[in-house]
Amino acid sequence: MTTIGELLTLWPRRYLDRTRITPIAQVVPGSVATIRARIQRVEERRLSRQRRLLSLLVSDDTGSLTVSFFHARGIRERVSPGRWLLLSGRVELYRQRFTMTHPDFDVLEDAEAPRLGLWPVYPLAGSLKQRFVQDLTAMAVSRWASQLEDPLPSAIRRRFRLRELAPAVAHLHFPDNDQDREAARRRLVFDEFLRMALVIEWGSRRLGGQRAPVLNPDNGLVREVLDRLPFALTTGQHTAWSDIRADVAQPRPMARLLQGDVGSGKTVVALLAMMAAVGSGYQAALMVPTEILAEQHAQSLAPWLASIGVPLVLIAGHQRGPEVPNQPAVVVGTHALLSERVAFDRLGLVVVDEQHRFGVRQRAQLSDKGVSPHLLVMTATPIPRTLALTVYGDLALSRMLDKPAGRQPVKTIRLSQRDRRTAYLAVREAVRQGRQAYVVCPLVGETEEANGKAAEKLADGMRQIPGWRVGLIHGRLPKAEQARVMEAFRRGAIDVLVGTTILEVGLDVPNATVMVIEEADRFGLAQLHQLRGRIGRGAHPGTCYLIADPATDEAQARLDAMVKTADGFELAEQDLAIRGPGEFLGLRQHGLSGMPLVDWTRDGTLWRQAREAARVLLTADPELTREEHRALRNRLRDVLDSAAAEVRLH
Ligand code: ADP
Ligand code: MG
Repeated sequence: MTTIGELLTLWPRRYLDRTRITPIAQVVPGSVATIRARIQRVEERRLSRQRRLLSLLVSDDTGSLTVSFFHARGIRERVSPGRWLLLSGRVELYRQRFTMTHPDFDVLEDAEAPRLGLWPVYPLAGSLKQRFVQDLTAMAVSRWASQLEDPLPSAIRRRFRLRELAPAVAHLHFPDNDQDREAARRRLVFDEFLRMALVIEWGSRRLGGQRAPVLNPDNGLVREVLDRLPFALTTGQHTAWSDIRADVAQPRPMARLLQGDVGSGKTVVALLAMMAAVGSGYQAALMVPTEILAEQHAQSLAPWLASIGVPLVLIAGHQRGPEVPNQPAVVVGTHALLSERVAFDRLGLVVVDEQHRFGVRQRAQLSDKGVSPHLLVMTATPIPRTLALTVYGDLALSRMLDKPAGRQPVKTIRLSQRDRRTAYLAVREAVRQGRQAYVVCPLVGETEEANGKAAEKLADGMRQIPGWRVGLIHGRLPKAEQARVMEAFRRGAIDVLVGTTILEVGLDVPNATVMVIEEADRFGLAQLHQLRGRIGRGAHPGTCYLIADPATDEAQARLDAMVKTADGFELAEQDLAIRGPGEFLGLRQHGLSGMPLVDWTRDGTLWRQAREAARVLLTADPELTREEHRALRNRLRDVLDSAAAEVRLH
């Protein structure tokens, strides 16, 4: 923390409810209370070699109470008989006495009447004391908050009933009550949202003039694919397909996000969309993040496309690029597709699979002389709606919440290291029955290299087991080797595939029924869910073993959530609750970690209002050059000035 501005925007992590002081005689065991009391006695007792118990006897006019601290470091020096304390915490009844364990407390000057209300608790590192920072922010607020320039034009503020900036900042730090704090929070979240919304609006205005080819989504190829499908579309697939049909028949480029959990059947929807393009005389490109996935998609699409006579081209980085034929075709590849040497002459649709970032810049690369292809982005990341709308703000949203019928449920079992044998007995049983298994090696380091080594070791161990054909896959292996191993696993020539998190994305081998995740506590919830999505894809039920002895409550909570539900959206909400948006689903790169005030499960309305405000503002003043928009423009300068060259939409 180096500036007043940083101090003012060090938002409280939570608040202590000190709206009321309770006399000790009136405290209710089991509930949280704030008391003001004087220290009568201080005792320190050694419990073991490391642990000491510090206990205080405190009293007010009405009674007395025991306060216990098990980690007494830094506390002993601050408490001595005769001092007044303000204590907030849960009161328990222990051996017939009222007790508070590890309460939040402040030492009061003798006669000081404590400030009541909600007290901010800041996210502090190191040895900074809450009370010290509270005093600093109180001073900063009273001296400088009023000098903050409010970037929101008053018309916008009135329209959306938002507070002015200075009081909002002041009351976020020191609210009188909950409503007060909420009004302050709303204003400050609106500012954050408006910033993102302006960038999105700015970018899409820039692309707004683009035309797109008008496709006929009910052409013969689409009908043929629909006729040949061995199953009925799920409700989700059906709705998504209707959305896409409507979009691609327009002369504006479609920009749609298809959100569907692993195994919800996004590929079929992509196939239909691609046939809308190909059957209308255009090329369709399917872009995926890795070469393995490109190959796998190409393989699973090949029979479909062959049966209806549609050419398929695979463009993967390691091979010398085959040419895109001068005719309607499906082209599958990685980001290499965006490179100059891949020349499409009639690109009608781009499908981007399992990709977080696909911004205006990438889209601009695809457009040619003012004509842009339609865009379908697919993700299995079950982002809650508000978050999705913010992160992919420029995309319309289709969500598939259901799964194909007849899916076998996956059972999830937690095991401690001691019981790991159980998991491998299950692998053995599966192999005996002709099924296959994945073993995910522990995440030992930051690099794929370190993790690759761990996977090798694990695989070597398993190769000793008679009757198991063991394969190994990780990111450090040559791409060709990765592809070979995947193919062997898919063919059934490998029984047990040991790998790093490279297994996370896209692999579709219905015969794999068991997954063992080693040291599962080291993985994020989203990752665990993605990994688990690899099994239970066929006719046989699957089991996922999470081997872990979690060391933290957070890890414990993640594993519990995995055992409790297989629903990606529910897990996403849990993940958000456990970790907050900063760490959530690897979205750190979107800058969301800088938005601790946002409540992603509730702030949808506020986001819509910010989008509306952005439209209003840019319609009236497209470059934000007017005097009343100067402060706003200043705040956005770094983003907007580079925007013409490269607008980051996600
Ligand atoms: P994801 O959404 O994870 O990409 P996929 O598209 O790979 O899912 O589909 C997973 C599996 O479900 C595939 O084997 C696919 O053939 C099958 N599938 C897709 N849609 C349906 C459906 N409507 N009914 C039955 N099976 C389906
Ligand atoms: Mg997929």
